[in-house]
Amino acid sequence: MKTLGLLGGMTWHSTVDYYRLINAGVQERLGGSHSAELLLLSIDFVPVEKMQERGDWAGMGRLMGEWARRLEDAGAEGLVICTNTMHRLADDIARAIRIPIIHIADATAVAVKRAGLDTVGLLGTRYTMELDFYRGRLETSHGLKVLVPDEAGRTLVHDVIYKELTYGTIRDESRAAYVEIIEDLRRRGAQGVILGCTEIPLLVKQKDSPLPVFDTTALHAAAAVEFALG
Ligand code: GLU
Repeated sequence: MKTLGLLGGMTWHSTVDYYRLINAGVQERLGGSHSAELLLLSIDFVPVEKMQERGDWAGMGRLMGEWARRLEDAGAEGLVICTNTMHRLADDIARAIRIPIIHIADATAVAVKRAGLDTVGLLGTRYTMELDFYRGRLETSHGLKVLVPDEAGRTLVHDVIYKELTYGTIRDESRAAYVEIIEDLRRRGAQGVILGCTEIPLLVKQKDSPLPVFDTTALHAAAAVEFALG
């Protein structure tokens, strides 16, 4: 089994799920009391959040590269960046290390296509919904059509992530607002919806959604298990 390096803490509320899902996946594949071989570097989210707000992507790229190198130096053989948003820096991180990055958007796109869908809604932070690193990869590398909420919807989805989900706060009102936004994406032609922020699956489950959901935390964890066990 290969050793995974998890870059977590963004936020810890979803890193807990990564840890659980990867171990459960390895146990399911190998049976008995098997569990994953992994290293976890879990960082303090507040400095990262402040750099995001300032738009200091270059500074974050350097930091993420250093953290990734610490995991590689400690023996990680593949890197799992436990957040969608920070995949904005995947290329900078890749330049700092020699081990491969298990990319969250690729794991997600494979699942969308396996489900036979070609048009999906994308919910996530403003960075994930509006910048090109995520949508562009889904569209250009995987041939998917990606729809995002309108400006008001994007603001709501983003604010719920940063003012509630990153604190671990789950509110029924916010779930209802997300479901309304998913319903709007469905009316615009989406056949499924990507929960493209690793905390959104804490708020919205399949039973709440009028569209099939693609839980990026679970899909990324499954891809990590696949990498570890080959
Ligand atoms: N976990 C989130 C994501 O998947 C947001 C926190 C972050 O900015 O990293 O995008």
